[in-house]
Amino acid sequence: MNIIVKKFGGTSVGSIDKIKKIADNIAKEKMFNDKDIQFVVVVSAMEKTTDNLFELAHQISAHPNQRELDMLVTAGERITIALLSLALQEKGIQSISFTGSQSGIITDNSHGNAKILTVNAFRIPTELNKNKLVIVAGFQGVSLEKEITTLGRGGSDTTAISLACYLQASKCEIYTDVKGVYSADPRVVENVCFVKNISYEEMLFLTLNGSKVLHSRAAEFAQKYNIPIEIKSSFENCEGTMISQHMEESYVKAIAHKEKLVKIAINAKKDNQFVDLPDFKTEIFDMEYLDTQVYFLIDKQYQEQFIDEITENNLEYYIDKECLAVITLTGYRICKDIKFFNNLKKILDETCNNDFIIKNQGIGVSVLFNSENFNLVIKVLHKKFLVSEFI
Ligand code: ADP
Ligand code: ASP
Ligand code: MG
Repeated sequence: MNIIVKKFGGTSVGSIDKIKKIADNIAKEKMFNDKDIQFVVVVSAMEKTTDNLFELAHQISAHPNQRELDMLVTAGERITIALLSLALQEKGIQSISFTGSQSGIITDNSHGNAKILTVNAFRIPTELNKNKLVIVAGFQGVSLEKEITTLGRGGSDTTAISLACYLQASKCEIYTDVKGVYSADPRVVENVCFVKNISYEEMLFLTLNGSKVLHSRAAEFAQKYNIPIEIKSSFENCEGTMISQHMEESYVKAIAHKEKLVKIAINAKKDNQFVDLPDFKTEIFDMEYLDTQVYFLIDKQYQEQFIDEITENNLEYYIDKECLAVITLTGYRICKDIKFFNNLKKILDETCNNDFIIKNQGIGVSVLFNSENFNLVIKVLHKKFLVSEFI
């Protein structure tokens, strides 16, 4: 059996019309395709639904219980699977919808940011063998204790790629609201260039550094299990970006960014030695051991949750800096190129009032600076290194 996993994100399923359109496109594809190809479709919650559900919980509690939050927000994807299944059935396609737990996505118990331990999706091939199209709720799983969990914001991509891996799918198609991967976020930078091919390693690096076009754990899965991925537009019929094995070494390929970061320092030395830190459940963007502190960069939206964890573990902390941004340039060859660093430093001197930190990351270079300069810095760096000429 040749299986293709298709994943549709929140904006792609953002209205009944869009859900009907997806059903329409799938019906056409089924009609013209080889009869041997079976589709498994993973969907996100309809646009803004997840945010709205979080907001409802915050109207009740300033620190909502994580277990109940997971119970609440997983309802978003459950709405979409049923609606898409109904839309397909209207088109005469036999379909069946499954939640994450019905699909056998087994996770650890870290509510809000659970990791997949194993996939036991035996119900999916059973239904495919009955010639049914299977629709799966993304972003969610079930723990060994039978608790409902979520995989972190943007986690539906990870559901899709983990299923593609389990089902040994020939391909995983990630349908979204842009045509594929660009040299920078097209919503932030003008005149971006389309990236036709990118290696797993580069894609993972971009996602770990804030590029949300793909969930970073999805990129990790894909790299580990060598699943061909295409990121493409939900509504325009054109080729997207292919992610596959390592290709020729590139110079600067793309820029990732992350805004709204807060730097929190934990006093972590006792008797001149760093103490063991707890296994924090909050998603950490970056961390650094320096002098007597460990510095954590955390997305502002997780600040309260992280401080709760620090205080629960009787650790002392202070907020070192608020409103930071990180911009990361990928490229295998830039990390040892002094001319590149001189050019980078010159631009940063002019745009960041000398207040920045450059970090060499092996497959790219990151710059940490004050958020207020963000729009200028990203545009100037993109223009210098990706649009005009190579240095
Ligand atoms: P979905 O809901 O389909 O999962 P996301 O919002 O999670 O969609 O991801 C798509 C978004 O990723 C785009 O709308 C775009 O703003 C953003 N993005 C960030 N970096 C890039 C990039 N380098 N190329 C393309 N899109 C990017
Ligand atoms: N609905 C979830 C979110 O908004 C998961 C996803 O879209 O991938 O984060
Ligand atoms: Mg996404």
